[in-house]
Amino acid sequence: MRVPERMTAMVCEAPGLPLARRELDVPRPAAGEVLLRVLACGVCRTDLHLVDGELPDPKLPVVPGHEIVATVAAAGPDVAGLAVGQLVGVPWLGWTCGACRYCRGGRENLCQRALFTGYTRDGGYAEFAVADTRFCFPLPGGLDPVHAAPLLCAGLIGYRSYRVAGEGVERLGIYGFGAAAHILCQIASREGKRVFAFTRAGDEAGQAFARRLGAAWAGASTQPPPEPLDAAIIFAPVGALVPLALRAVAPGGTVVCGGIHMSEIPAFPYSILWQERTLRSVANLTRADGEALLERAAALGVRTEVQTFPLAAANEALAALRSGALQGAAVLEVARRGARP
Ligand SMILES: [Zn+2]
Ligand SMILES: [Zn+2]
Repeated sequence: MRVPERMTAMVCEAPGLPLARRELDVPRPAAGEVLLRVLACGVCRTDLHLVDGELPDPKLPVVPGHEIVATVAAAGPDVAGLAVGQLVGVPWLGWTCGACRYCRGGRENLCQRALFTGYTRDGGYAEFAVADTRFCFPLPGGLDPVHAAPLLCAGLIGYRSYRVAGEGVERLGIYGFGAAAHILCQIASREGKRVFAFTRAGDEAGQAFARRLGAAWAGASTQPPPEPLDAAIIFAPVGALVPLALRAVAPGGTVVCGGIHMSEIPAFPYSILWQERTLRSVANLTRADGEALLERAAALGVRTEVQTFPLAAANEALAALRSGALQGAAVLEVARRGARP
């Protein structure tokens, strides 16, 4: 394809400021990288944490966005396995060292030298992006970019959280019913789990949304579930949910914090951790998580619910996410397939 010299990008220049619309040079792919023409990019709560200055040491200025669905526009030197025109997905994990004990031990999500898309590398709030070929997931050509985008972080982190919650889970609590939860609720309920969805008190629409996507029960997070849970996943960045979730899980149960940032966790009595309850976080993803999630979502017929925004309205998309008014996921629709750049 013809690659233009310049592109539009929405740029985080400093925390606390709205994203700035900028015309930038189209980046050049280095060895092992591809240039991607972005079709869609999901808007994740992590992007809000980035613009709010809640994440340490971002690359600045940085193009946010780490749920990229794109076609390969050009390949840098030494690229094998991806062809120009191919549809790919790019997740949060953008590069790892490949040599440390985490990388060698199947835990590349914990690589201390890792680079992250839309945080320490430029991401997908732009017409073009470059990505390391090894961190691109080939996607089936027939996939709809807008609906696929939320799988690449919300879906993936949700799925990793679900897997670390444990094998034998039958009753799964989910706190915060946003993009990640709306995907995981479909997966877990279709796998025969009973999902208990917790939302903000009074969020009737969110609770109805959860029930429609397969939740067996939905209620306020301040409320105890009708029966003890085997595990609970907290997606909302609210530390006060941790003791509530610990109280909701049965002895031996696990509480997983799925977000990258959380407000302070209030002190709680040891008795709610006692009886071998586990409290843990989930950080980032491995490529194996991504492959597993994409396979599982396709096999179970997961359908994301999205609200789309044009690239130039990225600030409005972030505001919609912040307000809690979204159902499902916000996605920037950057280009249509087949349309000329
Ligand atoms: Zn490493
Ligand atoms: Zn994310």
